[in-house]
Amino acid sequence: MKAIKGLLWAIVWAVVLLAGLYIFTTSDFKALSDKLTNEVAQWTAGVAPEATSSAASQANSASSTSSSVATSSSSAATTTATPIEPNVQGKTLANTYYYQFDDDVPAAARQAFTQAIAVYNQTGIVKLVAGTGDSEENKITFSIYHKTMTAAERGTIELGHGGPNIIQRIGWGAYTANHASASLNATYTASFRKSVAVHELGHALGLDHSDSQDSVMYPVDQDKTSLTAADIAGLKSIYEN
Ligand SMILES: [Zn+2]
Repeated sequence: MKAIKGLLWAIVWAVVLLAGLYIFTTSDFKALSDKLTNEVAQWTAGVAPEATSSAASQANSASSTSSSVATSSSSAATTTATPIEPNVQGKTLANTYYYQFDDDVPAAARQAFTQAIAVYNQTGIVKLVAGTGDSEENKITFSIYHKTMTAAERGTIELGHGGPNIIQRIGWGAYTANHASASLNATYTASFRKSVAVHELGHALGLDHSDSQDSVMYPVDQDKTSLTAADIAGLKSIYEN
């Protein structure tokens, strides 16, 4: 009789322990942060599409005034990595990403994203593969949104936004994954450009804004589509740490 009572208590304790373990592991499953506020802007004289090209030359002429400063410190600039998003700092992320497009992404936007994917795959630092992936794997969703600039925002148009979304499970079955997004503002067709897609995908992969106008992560679009040494160093700091 004593032996049966002991066995019953053992079963009760086993159930309690398993329930506790289950609660522990599931409650720690959380998104650490959503950072989708990063955007790339474009200076414009007006919102009319034809204004965007003249705006680009304005931005270029503005940059040339400070180019002597930039060249004098260029040796330092090449060794300074492009900053990385705060929520990916200190995280160990796999370098493979599974990506998919939302159904309403038009062909022009899809093409820009596809070109951007090739830019990052060419580095060999990350590997972007078409597919859905598991919850424990890194994923990127490509999408579009519509945002019309208000009078108060006159002078700039927002071309897109993107960012990492770190999912971390601790305890039993621990993993860290990035379920990122990159999106283009479909209200302005100027958004459907390779340079904008490269910038937003850069955010999705964990790169933050750079002060360097040569960087694809400069916050105002400079039509840059090639990663600088600093951009590559930033990527390496996330994926080869
Ligand atoms: Zn940005």
